[in-house]
Amino acid sequence: MASTMMAQREFDLDKRKNFSEWYNTIIYASGLIDGRYNVAGFVVHKPLATRLMRGIYALLEPELEADGHEPVAFPTVIPKENFEIEKEHVAGFVPQVFWVTKGGGEEFARPLALRPTSETAFYQMFALWIKAHSDLPMKFYQSCTVFRYEHETLPFIRGREFHWIETHDAFATAKEALGQTATDNEIFSRVLFDHLGVPVTVFKRPQWDKFPGGEETFAYDVLMPDGKMLQCGSTHYLGQNFTKAFGVKFTKADGGEEFPFSTCFGPGVWRIVAAVASVHGDNKGLILPFSVAPVQVAVVPIAKGENAEAVVKECRKIAAGLKKDGIRVVCDDSDKSPGFKYNYWEMRGVPLRVEIGGRELEAGTATVVRRDTREKKVVPLAKLADELRKEGSAMLATLKDAAEADLKAHVTEAKTKEEVKNVLESKGGFVRTHFCSTARDGEACAKELQAFTIGGKVRGTLVNKEEKPAAGAKCVVCGHSAKTVVYVAKQY
Ligand SMILES: [Zn+2]
Repeated sequence: MASTMMAQREFDLDKRKNFSEWYNTIIYASGLIDGRYNVAGFVVHKPLATRLMRGIYALLEPELEADGHEPVAFPTVIPKENFEIEKEHVAGFVPQVFWVTKGGGEEFARPLALRPTSETAFYQMFALWIKAHSDLPMKFYQSCTVFRYEHETLPFIRGREFHWIETHDAFATAKEALGQTATDNEIFSRVLFDHLGVPVTVFKRPQWDKFPGGEETFAYDVLMPDGKMLQCGSTHYLGQNFTKAFGVKFTKADGGEEFPFSTCFGPGVWRIVAAVASVHGDNKGLILPFSVAPVQVAVVPIAKGENAEAVVKECRKIAAGLKKDGIRVVCDDSDKSPGFKYNYWEMRGVPLRVEIGGRELEAGTATVVRRDTREKKVVPLAKLADELRKEGSAMLATLKDAAEADLKAHVTEAKTKEEVKNVLESKGGFVRTHFCSTARDGEACAKELQAFTIGGKVRGTLVNKEEKPAAGAKCVVCGHSAKTVVYVAKQY
């Protein structure tokens, strides 16, 4: 396993050619995590990862609150009997549940699940809290970790404990609940693209691939550098399934009783970290967007000879000024060489580097270097903070353009299943094709296609664009008349 010592050597791995090696090296070498904790599938998050996740939470939480969600913190444990109430849900999740069966030396009569998701905890309380029409809508979120007994794990992509946000909302009508899923879709794709430069494709998943116990699932796919998709979150319309199962009822305005319609939304903070690292990173390490970078600017003194001490002193002062200006900055005044420092901060994804030497100080300037393009710009010290913010925005714009162009270049049409297979093998990405149905009756074709293409999955239909099959188009698998246009991709 690569260690953080890697950062001290020249790092040069081709992300496009060997993404798996790149990813498996960078998550440790950049100092995001330490993988040496002695329980498989559980990860120690170092300050870089912890601050990056906090930055992502800080983008999403205010959006949820502006949309009327209140924060809550529910217990990590859920009693087994709650779990068994909704039949599809229990079937979907029980194979992955960690059970707490003992406290001290005492065997529990009722085993406790470590939450794999919290519907069955929330609905227990919704039954007590929701009584009247006026109690609705009820909208909560919690930022927490959940636990799933996964066999194959990969940090930030699949873990036995991972970080996310879960919302649980209840509404008086189906229309309001479905409206909420549309809002969730909008919030997720906007935050990821506008602030993190990660383009998201929103799908309505096929019926055979929905959340256990739900009616409709909408999910957010991000294209990874190896052509596979990473689902970074999802939102679910649950209809009345959970409210009926848990006996959650409200008195309507006209006096009758009704079960609320509910939704849940799960932005995968862990997976967003993986997406940001993978979509933007390059052969030298991470490239973090200015908005969430735990260190936005590294000041590196170029100190030589007799004025070395004066340069370092001045750099510390400049960094302190930037900090006062609200910029997350470090002044790297260690005795390492400038080259070593450049590599070190580049590996960690710091968006901007400021180089200051004796000549710059005399001229009252600094050299600003962008992490993504390595473009250098000489700016007056008096305007340094403003210039850094401007460069930070310019860098995000470049990252967005590159990521969007990459996604566009990875959507390919196919008319036969052989073509689907060829595209998935040669370049990956999405294959747009005709399909018989995304209702239950299409599942057999999806399974056949998945087997034929060795892992190509029907991701569903686009949410933000209505697409109708061409006249006379046939399902790519069974040859029956096509009812829908779907996208096929391999996934994590
Ligand atoms: Zn078919």
